[in-house]
Amino acid sequence: AVVTAPRRIKALDQDVVNKIAAGEIIVAPVHALKELIENSVDAGSTLLEVLVKEGGLKLLQITDNGHGINKEDMPILCERFTTSKLKDFKDLESIGTYGFRGEALASISHIAHLTVTTKTKDSTCAWRAQYDAGRLVPAKPGQSADPKPTAGRQGTQITVEDLFYNVPTRRRAFRSASEEYNKILDVVGRYAVHCDGVAFSCKKHGESSTTISTQSNSSTVDRIRQIHGSSVANELIEFTSSDEKYGYRARGWTTNANYHVKKTTLLLFINHRSVDSTNIRKAIEQTYSAFLPKGGHPWTYLSLEIDPHRVDVNVHPTKREVNFLNEDEIIEKICMDIRTKLATVDTSRTFMTQT
Ligand code: ADP
Ligand code: MG
Repeated sequence: AVVTAPRRIKALDQDVVNKIAAGEIIVAPVHALKELIENSVDAGSTLLEVLVKEGGLKLLQITDNGHGINKEDMPILCERFTTSKLKDFKDLESIGTYGFRGEALASISHIAHLTVTTKTKDSTCAWRAQYDAGRLVPAKPGQSADPKPTAGRQGTQITVEDLFYNVPTRRRAFRSASEEYNKILDVVGRYAVHCDGVAFSCKKHGESSTTISTQSNSSTVDRIRQIHGSSVANELIEFTSSDEKYGYRARGWTTNANYHVKKTTLLLFINHRSVDSTNIRKAIEQTYSAFLPKGGHPWTYLSLEIDPHRVDVNVHPTKREVNFLNEDEIIEKICMDIRTKLATVDTSRTFMTQT
């Protein structure tokens, strides 16, 4: 082998570091949207509208009626690690909000064209600003980069255009806009079921009808009906489960033994964040195997609240995974409570058909 001298080690340019981080956090348009939805919910919104063009690659716009952003904060809004939600590392142990590291908007600004329009209760007008690579930029060359006054209602509108425009390999990897749109609908639908008191809508740009539309005052079952249909909503049983020793409270709706499909649908929220858990999914399927025909699977919405001190949300930048203490015991107790509920419904049905 030819031995050559080692190349010198150099620090990466900050912008390169940020662009790499952005690509890790936002792999597809749906990941950007999930962060934006969580920001809107964190801001106390009761109305949340999503607009999508080309599966979110061309346009992803979310409009909320939350508390808005102070004009004075707009210059640092999209810098990495700027947040209104976390001050110390120890705050991470009791975090109640969705976001916590101030990375979402920064990341988006590195890989898309980002426009923010926002108005707080006390401001006399709305302010609009454009961002690139974490910084304010002029809307047109030659103009000032400062936020511009504009008309608008209280709340925030975030517009993300041309996602991955400067990451061509990533951009080219998306073959189907409708596949990306379906992922977006899935996530909007999850939050629309979970977020009590918040109205959601989601539609494709240029189409007059919405694909998802829920009202802020409708019940959980009604929201499930609107998004997943009556075949699911008509067969739901409510369940709760809790244990002080393990510091958790769970509640949800799950289908009875009348309902079964080929694939399990699990809407799982841990401390109000939509996450996935193979362990919970498997345990639920195992629970249902005693009630459903072979190959049949349930539809389940489970909202699990765990004492924040027992949860480690800091496993991964995407926060798609969550670790918590006594996971096995908690899952077993929840499934036992679901099983009890299912058995009660099942026997009363058998009883009724026998009389
Ligand atoms: P994080 O949510 O982790 O704080 P983000 O980059 O997602 O980081 O957002 C940065 C900050 O911008 C938030 O802490 C919040 O103060 C503000 N913000 C973002 N989106 C909204 C919104 N829709 N309404 C009000 N404030 C927002
Ligand atoms: Mg956030």
